[in-house]
Amino acid sequence: MHEPDAQTRELMLENETLRSRMAYLLEQAERNHSIMTRHQAFDLQIVGAGSFQELVSTIFRTLPVISELDTVTLSLADPDADIYTVMHKLGVDYEELQDLSFCEHASELGFEHVEGRRPRPLLGPYAPSQHCAQFPHPPAGLQTVALVPLLRNTRLIGSLNLGSKDPNRFTPALGTDFLEHMGSIIAICLENVISNEMLKFIGLTDALTGVYNRRYIDRRLVEEIARARRQGYRISCMYIDIDHFKKVNDSVGHGGGDDVLREVASRIKAELRISDALGRFGGEEFVVLLIDAGLESASMVAQRIRNSVAVTPVDLSGGGHVSVTVSIGVATLDDFERDHAIEGVAQDLVAQADTALYRAKADGRNRVVTG
Ligand code: GH3
Ligand code: MG
Ligand code: MG
Repeated sequence: MHEPDAQTRELMLENETLRSRMAYLLEQAERNHSIMTRHQAFDLQIVGAGSFQELVSTIFRTLPVISELDTVTLSLADPDADIYTVMHKLGVDYEELQDLSFCEHASELGFEHVEGRRPRPLLGPYAPSQHCAQFPHPPAGLQTVALVPLLRNTRLIGSLNLGSKDPNRFTPALGTDFLEHMGSIIAICLENVISNEMLKFIGLTDALTGVYNRRYIDRRLVEEIARARRQGYRISCMYIDIDHFKKVNDSVGHGGGDDVLREVASRIKAELRISDALGRFGGEEFVVLLIDAGLESASMVAQRIRNSVAVTPVDLSGGGHVSVTVSIGVATLDDFERDHAIEGVAQDLVAQADTALYRAKADGRNRVVTG
């Protein structure tokens, strides 16, 4: 056999190089394809999230896996803590969302603000002192991070923070198109789900006083009765009605009447526990659900409410003040109702409290009657 000549050897070598280059490119293409497929599935999953809790927990659970990250956290700009409060009231479990944080101003998110320019992702080495807000519980060995701005139009609503133990994962030289794209999808989903939750919340609250509305209380009562049956605790209900409210309106005007409604709601609330629920049932009537309270403790709370309304006149926003009183009917869910349908039991409980209220009115008002 002849030794291949120099030209053939060169060709063979080139061929070899091309083959391995091709194999590398193929591998890259397959890897990119698989990343893309995983990200498309992720996008569909987050677009379909039906609640704030579901969206945020999906991001925390899925993104580290599909993007091979060691930590993913989320910071949201939340002036006046509106989002935090509403989500809390809607039952979001923050214990389950340890990597979610809120800040008062978007300027605290760590992006440089240049007028007229969109903030870009910040990539580089992890620095504990600089990134403590974004990574409150950093995994050991965290090396590089990417802070991805979440933008709606030009408004900065938060930051998606990615961290890796790989020192070469996020370097300032890396292209950011992919991260920006991911950030914009997550931002849209977040804004969408937050405004839906806000609407849900508005549908369950009373605009004048900020307490729950009847729809919420009706629904909550059914849930609470089911839970009370399982866990064996008592539920009481209070029906509260402002005395001679028509006269109050006549003397201080409708605006003054509204001030009274707001103040009475806040005085009732001040006497309740965090687990109790207060709703305005329309007009000048409020209903309170007392969780884990029997007739005796519920009447004590009712007496405290009656007293706190009666002793201090209500300041009016237009100046002056007016004295008002409330009458309260109290009822408790009895054990023997366990076999009845929950909706009926719920209606009966409110009706019993209403009947007791009627007696309080007939007995002279500014009093508590237990049914
Ligand atoms: P009673 O002691 O028997 O409860 O007498 P009352 O005058 O309080 O009861 P009534 O049900 O006759 O009147 C309730 C009044 O509440 C009538 C209505 O004008 C007034 N009202 C209902 N909703 C509002 C509201 O949103 N704002 C104000 N300012 N008044 C309201
Ligand atoms: Mg009334
Ligand atoms: Mg009244």
